[in-house]
Amino acid sequence: MDSLFETAKWPFVPAKNFTKVAKKRGVRVIVMHSMEAPEKGDTAEKIAEYFHTTIKQASAHICVDNNSIVQCVWDNDIAWAAPGANSDGIQIEMAGYAKQTTADWLDPYSVLVLENAANAVAQYCLKYDIPVIRLTDEELGGRLAKGIVSHSQVSKVFKKSDHTDPGAGFPWDYFLSRVNVYVAKLSG
Ligand SMILES: [Zn+2]
Repeated sequence: MDSLFETAKWPFVPAKNFTKVAKKRGVRVIVMHSMEAPEKGDTAEKIAEYFHTTIKQASAHICVDNNSIVQCVWDNDIAWAAPGANSDGIQIEMAGYAKQTTADWLDPYSVLVLENAANAVAQYCLKYDIPVIRLTDEELGGRLAKGIVSHSQVSKVFKKSDHTDPGAGFPWDYFLSRVNVYVAKLSG
């Protein structure tokens, strides 16, 4: 336990750029990203190393690939990933590309990524009392509803970035069904 508001569940490689938060932070949205990095066994570690060293103003809470999760920013601190939804968001980077089709997201490698990401998202839903639903753009922009969104939605609603990840092919229904399985498992 690193501080009062953290759990240390995954290997931690500190990001260089993020906002330290002293008091307990409210988290409203979980933002899903694709790393734009290849389907390899050490992609989470590689991107964590990138966040650790880059001079770019970029970071995320966790990086997820097919066989591991690496945490880069503690949950209570603010990662710099999706302007407009950074201060009240948890940022999750998945190995893969926004250009992937739904079939690509459901290939043997990506199914393992989705499984690890669903497990992590379920833990965050339970930790922050976030329902397992995908918010509409209107709900995201209203700044009140809690739920899960894409970086693409954050770009569209807040107009502070142009990223479209994790892409139109991301299998939301499948992914949320897996999150629900983990929520049931973890709360049972
Ligand atoms: Zn993104």
